[in-house]
Amino acid sequence: MFRATRSMIGLAGLVLALAGLSAPQAAADPLRGTGPRTAAVQHDEAVYVVQERADGTVYTAIYEPAAGVTPDELRASLRRQGIRGVQDAGATARADLGTLGCSPTVGTASALCGAKWTYGAYNDPQVYFLDHTSDSWPVSDAQVDWYQAPGIDAYYRWYTGGCPSGRHCVHTYNGNYGTDWYGQTSYTTSGGYFVDGSVVVRLNDQVTPNTYSARRSVACHEMGHALGLDHNGSTNSCMSVPEFPQHPSSDDFSVLNLLYPKAGT
Ligand SMILES: [Zn+2]
Repeated sequence: MFRATRSMIGLAGLVLALAGLSAPQAAADPLRGTGPRTAAVQHDEAVYVVQERADGTVYTAIYEPAAGVTPDELRASLRRQGIRGVQDAGATARADLGTLGCSPTVGTASALCGAKWTYGAYNDPQVYFLDHTSDSWPVSDAQVDWYQAPGIDAYYRWYTGGCPSGRHCVHTYNGNYGTDWYGQTSYTTSGGYFVDGSVVVRLNDQVTPNTYSARRSVACHEMGHALGLDHNGSTNSCMSVPEFPQHPSSDDFSVLNLLYPKAGT
């Protein structure tokens, strides 16, 4: 997989070179744009919404700010829309962790706080990405990357196929969701586990450049959240912010391997 990753990066560089684009990497990054946000963006710049509900479940949504939108601007916009539970800067997925952890971590990669899949009848959690998106979003290609991850089995299915019995499903949509964010993953947890049917990925047509690399990066990123990963400070992971790399990193895979030890071992 990493051979493929490197060759694809090399190919992208070759294409840029042939196009006469010798500018710094940032200029070649469609997600960084030309707005004021020129520095590399760290993981805590995503915005988390956490709503603890009366029935004991917790709703969480993770938003990746679009280029030119600061996290504070995104927070203010979400609050203006009446969304409760917008977390302040530096907060991760859960303000109130209780006995639930945010581990494991490997390198700069880490699991979401208190949010993972159950195994059901299988040795590894079985997660199907149900694809409702249009052709411009390479959800199936991104799934191929995540399928390589140990510990969890990530499958692809066109949405009309429905959710296979006994498996987990993540509905994956695209649409015009405004100008604040590239992608969003939302989910409800109960006792630290994802509630079936509640995990949803939204990919924003309105601000994500309509290029394969940009859309694969955002798809890879949000699908990683849906498997239980938080952000990664590594520049070679699609879980970093901004989501320039198109692929997961070996640290992402290591976290998943630790998060989901094989049942019965
Ligand atoms: Zn994110």
